Amino acid sequence: MDHYDYIVIGGGVTGLSFANWIEELGDASVLLLEKEASLGGYCRTVKQDGFVWDYSGHFFHFRHQDIERWLLAKMPEEVIHRVNKRALIRVEGVDVDFPFQKNVHQLSKESCLRCLHDLYHADPKREYRTFKEMVRGKLGDSISDLFLIPYNEKLYACDLDLLDAEAMGRFFPSTNFAETLANSQRPDNRSYNSQFIYPEGGAVAFVNGLASGLKNTEVALDEAAIAIDESSKSVRTEKRQISYGQLVSTMPLPSLLQQCGRNVGSYSWNRVLVFNLGFDSKGLEDVHWMYFPDKSLPFYRVGFYDNILGGDRMSLYVEIGLPSGVGALDVPSHLDSVMVGLKREGIVTSQSLISQHSVVLDPAYVHMTMESERTSATVRDELSCQGIHSVGRYGRWTYCSIEDNIVESKQLANLLEAAREG
Ligand SMILES: Cc1cc2nc3c(=O)[nH]c(=O)nc-3n(C[C@H](O)[C@H](O)[C@H](O)COP(=O)(O)OP(=O)(O)OC[C@H]3O[C@@H](n4cnc5c(N)ncnc54)[C@H](O)[C@@H]3O)c2cc1C
Repeated sequence: MDHYDYIVIGGGVTGLSFANWIEELGDASVLLLEKEASLGGYCRTVKQDGFVWDYSGHFFHFRHQDIERWLLAKMPEEVIHRVNKRALIRVEGVDVDFPFQKNVHQLSKESCLRCLHDLYHADPKREYRTFKEMVRGKLGDSISDLFLIPYNEKLYACDLDLLDAEAMGRFFPSTNFAETLANSQRPDNRSYNSQFIYPEGGAVAFVNGLASGLKNTEVALDEAAIAIDESSKSVRTEKRQISYGQLVSTMPLPSLLQQCGRNVGSYSWNRVLVFNLGFDSKGLEDVHWMYFPDKSLPFYRVGFYDNILGGDRMSLYVEIGLPSGVGALDVPSHLDSVMVGLKREGIVTSQSLISQHSVVLDPAYVHMTMESERTSATVRDELSCQGIHSVGRYGRWTYCSIEDNIVESKQLANLLEAAREG
């Protein structure tokens, strides 16, 4: 049986970053298994009829300059666009700047007053049981009902009382009455992704950069891990049985538990149907993406690649949140309702659709519940004692950014290499 110091399951950003960090630290042997025919996971890109589309808009924002430099150094030839985000929320026919809760002064006078009244009377508690309670408790009913609750119900495709109050963590923009009032005079709409970078060649340019950094790692495409034997420390694929010193898995946590023959527990998530749509001429300008809480529209978000890359033809991604579950989707009928919605909202006017692509992300947004938080932490600890490390957005079962994935993989590589050498 072949043996490697590390077997990495998954060639998305997390798995590729981990392999890069390990190579930088020493000469350990690494095998990276990827079930698909290409690397990148959710950061793959489709190029079609002159349009550049991701699996869904993947924009890179950084809190750590060193991580951004590390990544960009791997792609010296790539043209990188630096963008100051302009995101809008369409509520009651008005386009409000993101974050909605700080810009309610842009609504009609009546709605603005209702939002401010409820925000003023909000009586935030220290702790909340659910996401829905947290939103109502901190921001009041009007802000919740106009945007935060219907929008997130469309996105997560579940009752928000299922989700933990901290389900969005640092990605949830908070405010209070004084801040919102001040924002109407001196706008400060900064958020975690106010500025982002995006390569001319799409998100896959980052993946290609990470892949080009690998010199000693063996990359096996089209080779899925199908079973893991914790006692013999080995992985079975359709082609072979391989043993490892440490296993780093980026597959969804429930799949890992199943492959280990462990109790899978109860995890839930949504799936997102993404349409990438190319048109023959330009549409709205000066906006990068828009949020749609209106439940009579099928999509929750529409993004404009052409306004990020500077194109002269409208190039959209359109996202629809759906419950997870088996069964094929009726993609053509979803596309018909998307086109009706885009026309109703004035996003498509005289343009003709000339190119299209769709993909389903499943899982897309995991449902972080109190139960999933507790059980995933416990089981990940147990697994790591067995030399199995479940990381990445779906391995941790969390809500995070690509940068978080890179930072996490660096920390894990440092820890494991220090232990191996010690
Ligand atoms: C709709 C949407 C929009 C997003 N937009 C942004 C954004 O703008 N900016 C941002 O920072 N983040 C964004 N994210 C988050 C980002 O996509 C993730 O953080 C990141 O892609 C996760 O990378 P990963 O490697 O952990 O997982 P993945 O990309 O899921 O990679 C896991 C890999 O493992 C492989 N795999 C699975 N099972 C097996 C197996 N049994 N054997 C072998 N291989 C296997 C898969 O094929 C895949 O390639 C978004 C997420 C979603 C859902």
